[in-house]
Amino acid sequence: MYDICVVGSLNMDMVVNVERIPNIGETVLAKGFKKIPGGKGANQAVAARRMGSSVVMVGCVGDDENAKILIDNLNKDGVETKYLKIDEETPTGVALIYVDKDGRNNISVYAGANLNINNEDINRLSNIIKSKIVITQFETPVETAIESFKLAKQNNSITILNPAPAREIPEELIKLSDIVIPNETETEVITGIKPIDEKSIKDAAAIMLQKGAKYVIITLGEKGAAIIDNERFTIVEAQKVNAVDTTAAGDSFIGGLSHYISKKGNLSFDVLIEAVKFANKVSAIAVTREGAQSSIPYMWELKEIFG
Ligand code: ADP
Repeated sequence: MYDICVVGSLNMDMVVNVERIPNIGETVLAKGFKKIPGGKGANQAVAARRMGSSVVMVGCVGDDENAKILIDNLNKDGVETKYLKIDEETPTGVALIYVDKDGRNNISVYAGANLNINNEDINRLSNIIKSKIVITQFETPVETAIESFKLAKQNNSITILNPAPAREIPEELIKLSDIVIPNETETEVITGIKPIDEKSIKDAAAIMLQKGAKYVIITLGEKGAAIIDNERFTIVEAQKVNAVDTTAAGDSFIGGLSHYISKKGNLSFDVLIEAVKFANKVSAIAVTREGAQSSIPYMWELKEIFG
């Protein structure tokens, strides 16, 4: 039995540093290139593990060099990878990322093997999926998200849905979700409401709560995160830091939040306030460093910086 099971993606981020992002048909000379392990699922797994939770990852990679690097990287942190499916036909997911001199980026993601995990796989791993907390996102098929949450609910596990990349949430899935955690863009795509002030945040959250989510947490970048349920609303302010790269901010937040809840062992609005305070610290450190998994802090760093 693991504290946390992440059903999600593993991607190799191919990051190219350029003076400016090239136009169509143009070639520019890049100043740097790095391969950085990423994928929302793997990032969230690493964040929770670095805080101290036991974490198992369910997903699919290809039979290639990128998969080896991604799996080695998870193993180094102690995330359990032995249940990952290897698809010999399809390449491992990649994200092609241009970063310009002002830190602005352009990203295209090829999901590849991430899409080849299916409900049969989920059912075969049903004992693994019934961890204390089950987390999923939208970089793996939505049917597997639903199937995983069904199994999780049979086991009274806590389910956390990060509806990213942005898309509408199927009714069946939102009903199975204890906590839904979108960022500002995802909130707008899901609800049609831009969360810019207290009223719009409450209105957007109300739509998700009415569809069946128990709690909604909207992350608001440098402003922190709002927690909403049918009775209460609060905003927990972010830590003040000098941000250099916000890649994996949301993923660090979700990993940190999940770790806190799993340690606590139960879910309530008051537990979520403390969990968000903790998650804000984890993601604040991540935004002061470059890359996805390379930027996610360890518990000892959190203690050193925030006491
Ligand atoms: P995403 O990375 O999914 O777009 P957000 O940008 O909302 O998500 O960031 C997630 C969390 O990361 C925020 O709730 C906050 O705690 C933290 N965060 C993001 N940007 C900053 C920042 N500039 N300073 C401090 N914390 C930040």
